[in-house]
Amino acid sequence: MTIAGKHVILGIAGHIDHGKTELIKALPVDRVFTLEGHGTIVTGTLWSGSIGPGDKVEIYPKGETARVRGVQVHDQAVEAGVHALRINPGNIGARERVEALVGACADRGIPIRIGVNSGSLEKDILERDGHPTPEGMVESAARQVELVEGLGFTSLLLSLKASNVGMTVEANRLMAARCDIPFHLGVTEAGTVLPGAVRSSVGLSLLLAEGIGDTIRVSLAGPSEEEICVGREILKSLGLRHGGVTVIACPTCGRCEIDVQAIAKEIERETAHIRTSLVVAVMGCAVNGPGEAREADVGVAGGGSETVLFRHGESVERLPGGEVIGRLLSEIRSHSAGSS
Ligand code: SF4
Repeated sequence: MTIAGKHVILGIAGHIDHGKTELIKALPVDRVFTLEGHGTIVTGTLWSGSIGPGDKVEIYPKGETARVRGVQVHDQAVEAGVHALRINPGNIGARERVEALVGACADRGIPIRIGVNSGSLEKDILERDGHPTPEGMVESAARQVELVEGLGFTSLLLSLKASNVGMTVEANRLMAARCDIPFHLGVTEAGTVLPGAVRSSVGLSLLLAEGIGDTIRVSLAGPSEEEICVGREILKSLGLRHGGVTVIACPTCGRCEIDVQAIAKEIERETAHIRTSLVVAVMGCAVNGPGEAREADVGVAGGGSETVLFRHGESVERLPGGEVIGRLLSEIRSHSAGSS
């Protein structure tokens, strides 16, 4: 990469939060790029190329999609060995550009995602429709599919994303009805964690329940880990993903005797890495709690000075308040160790 006359190789390590500006400290350069990315960037050379002053760089982890705004970096990404490439019909440019890129991907066995975004539809479609529509998104995708498939390239994935849930759903339904290319789903720019999780859940669930969608992405203005958690929960809720600890927690009421929310959150945090399928119930009281706690693999029901621990429906121990989290975790770990 040439920056201010110097040749440097990007060596990137660490975490780049969505929308944040970060200095890549390891770089031997005297300027800072505005990075808009997400996820953990693997250490190593991501790509090399030429970037001019003021360019905005959007970097995805090596092994996922790589793209850059302000410069055409697809070629460098292909050369660097990305596992997949996304092209946006709205800004990829002239046919010759697509032909060259498709040729390079074909030579290296790199699949391409044709990723339509309602916010960057082709000018002629926008001028005709006046604003983004599901039909316009489909037309954008279909044109690009026709072009790429016409070049003999079939290692394709499709995505049609909008920040509007209804538009995302409708565009994907329409497109799915006219091709059998695998779909990557997402409600783009879904918002901050809570509203974004809801919008993503509604949109993705509607489509997944209809059998549309092969991969998903939850886009949140928040920590990347939350995107993964939300995506995982969507898939688990639909029975499309199995395994892992599912924490059931009561909403609490005047009968509650323990800090259900704090316990449940801690259990979720500490067990996020566990692959064993396990249901854990955290219930606030001994009046209505034992029913749910008994149905779970492991559960607690809060009670006066002592919380009852359940294992496969049996009440097995009474715990002082301070021991609830530690004891639950040791139960979960022994369950997961026993079944792995
Ligand atoms: S389990 Fe007990 S504390 Fe929790 S909501 Fe039900 S009645 Fe209230």
